[in-house]
Parts: sequence; C-alpha cells; structure tokens
Amino acid sequence: MPVKAAQSLLSKYREGKSSLRLPIDPRDLAKIEGVKVIADSSLDAENISGEFNYEGWIPVIKYNPNDSIKRQRFTIAHELGHHMLKHGHSFRDNKKNFTLHDFDAKEVAANKFAAELLMPSDAISVMIKQRNISSVAELAKIFDVSVAAMKYRLENLGYL
Ligand SMILES: [Zn+2]
Repeated sequence: MPVKAAQSLLSKYREGKSSLRLPIDPRDLAKIEGVKVIADSSLDAENISGEFNYEGWIPVIKYNPNDSIKRQRFTIAHELGHHMLKHGHSFRDNKKNFTLHDFDAKEVAANKFAAELLMPSDAISVMIKQRNISSVAELAKIFDVSVAAMKYRLENLGYL
C-alpha cells in the first residue's frame, strides 16, 4: 500500500513536532530509513533520472544532479518508494517511469508513494480548507513541486 507506507514514514518524520514542515525534503526521510542518497552525474549520459540498489546491506539511491531540483526531489521520493515498498534490487528509472502512462505496477506504486510523500493529502487539506489557499501555483510553491504535478495531485484528490 504505497499511500499508507508514505504516511507512516511521514509520521515518523514529524514525531515530536506539532506540524509537518513544508516543503518535505525526501533526503531527510531517506536518512531516517538509513538510505544513502548520492548525486551521480554519470546517469545523465544514459538519460536516467535515478536508481535504487543495495551496496552490501546498505540501500542506496542515486539521482541525476543535472535534472531540475524539483525533478531530483521527485526522483529521490520515487526511489525511496522502491525501498519502502520492498520491491527488491536494481531499479533504474528514465523519465518514462515517472509518467502517468506507465503500466508497470511497481513504477505506479513508487509514483503514488512519491506523490503522497511530497504532497501529503492531509497537508493539502489544511492548506485548502483552513488557510484558504486555492491557487495551484501557490500550492506548488509551498510543496516545492511543479505546477503540473500539483494540478494532477489536486485532480486525483478530487479538489479540481
Ligand atoms: Zn522506479
């Protein structure tokens, strides 16, 4: 259950704090889980955004530092999903794996995990219902995601 897995990781992250600090930094969440996060510019030549693997017993996420910062954040969250959802070894993700038209069940699950991690449904609800923020662009800024990603997320949650 990708959404539940993301929510339980977020609750570990906010433990002891009264509210979730936004935007979510997926690097902090990886650290909680003992996952190493490494920038690897050699991924760029192969058009890879990120990969997940184990080095010995240590789970390692590599991401492409030539991608945009927002893309890097999504990549790290997505790869962390492969780890948290126990998908096993060796995932390499090109841009296609982050699209909505991916039919691989593990990629779809990792994308759902990443969406809930970076744009938690309860935090979105607070912004919209309590703080009366209705601009997609403003919400995208608060959560540090692209406007397109936020728009898709809001549609999915039934706000648009
Ligand atoms: Zn993937």
